[in-house]
Amino acid sequence: MRLSVRPYIPNPLRCFKCQRFGHSKTSCRGTLTCARCAEVGHESNDCTRTEKCVNCKGEHTSFSRNCFAWKQEKEIITTKIKKRISYQEARKLVKSQTPTPGNSYVSVAKRSISAPSADSNKDISTVSISKPSDATTRAPPPITNSPQGHIFFRCDGIHDAEVP
Ligand SMILES: [Zn+2]
Ligand SMILES: [Zn+2]
Ligand SMILES: [Zn+2]
Repeated sequence: MRLSVRPYIPNPLRCFKCQRFGHSKTSCRGTLTCARCAEVGHESNDCTRTEKCVNCKGEHTSFSRNCFAWKQEKEIITTKIKKRISYQEARKLVKSQTPTPGNSYVSVAKRSISAPSADSNKDISTVSISKPSDATTRAPPPITNSPQGHIFFRCDGIHDAEVP
C-alpha cells in the first residue's frame, strides 16, 4: 500500500464583504458588494436580483463553484503549494498557462472594428497638381570678366596642407 503525502490545498479565501479573493472580511478595505448581484451597498441575504459574479462578471453568484475566477484562484493556490513558490509567482504562472475562455467572460473584450468604408468617396477635384513655376525666375548669367583673375594662381600646387 502506497502512502502518498498530498499537501493540503485550501479553497480560495473569499471576502464576505467585497467578494474578492485573497483576503478576509476583517482585513477588507473594499466596499460592501452583494454576493448575488454584484451591486454595491447591500448584502446578498434578501437580494432577489439577477445573479452576477463580482470576480468574473458571469451569470452566477460570487460564491458559485462554477465561477471561472474561483477555479483560477484555486489553481493559483494549488500551483503555489505544489511548486513551493509565492502567490504572485503562481498567479503569473497560472495566468500565462490558462487559455482565454471562450464564454461570456471575454465577450465584452471583443469589439468589432468598423472598417473605414463609409467615408471613402474619392474627391479628385481637391487634389491639385501644382507644377513648380520656376520657368520665369532664371538665374542671371555668371559674370566672366572678373577683375580678380590672379586668384587662379594662388592654389596652384602651393596649398596642399589639406592633403593628408
Ligand atoms: Zn474584501
Ligand atoms: Zn444584490
Ligand atoms: Zn464568477
